Amino acid sequence: MATLLANTAAGQRAADRLTTVNDAKAFFATIGLDSVTVQVTDDDLSHLRHFRDRVRTILAASTVESAVADLNDLLREAEPLVKLDRSDLDGQWHWHLAVTSDADVIRRLQLVVVPSLLAMARTFGISRFRSCTTDSCTGMFVDASRGGRRRFCDPARCGNRAHVAAHRARRNPTS
Ligand SMILES: [Zn+2]
Repeated sequence: MATLLANTAAGQRAADRLTTVNDAKAFFATIGLDSVTVQVTDDDLSHLRHFRDRVRTILAASTVESAVADLNDLLREAEPLVKLDRSDLDGQWHWHLAVTSDADVIRRLQLVVVPSLLAMARTFGISRFRSCTTDSCTGMFVDASRGGRRRFCDPARCGNRAHVAAHRARRNPTS
């Protein structure tokens, strides 16, 4: 999810994909936060863009200490509300992780994105926060793969492009 958000930013190969309220709604739908899309406003769009900048800064952090400090700031700002609640559906007790009732959509997003980034930082430091290795790409990603050897922001697009370029270089070593 952090990867999806980071890569809505403009790169040399793509335009910024988060410039209108409809873009923001499409992003929330993509990540499965459809329930919030009805009330997205211009303010939410600018907050979402600001959050994206902060996530990109964290993914580019040079030390795990600075990444975790920034993530903890984001978590505190989200004002999470944690409670144990009995479900009407099955009568079982469930953990509810929510934001305060008047919290905006961006705080809900922070609450989903930030803990997962903190968990990655705790387990792997900043080694799984990466920039795409394709020369002309400004994409960033979180490598959640088991082996941790992911190199491209979008394996289907950048990975394939690098593969084709390498193949061409082998066939035409002088070009
Ligand atoms: Zn890329």
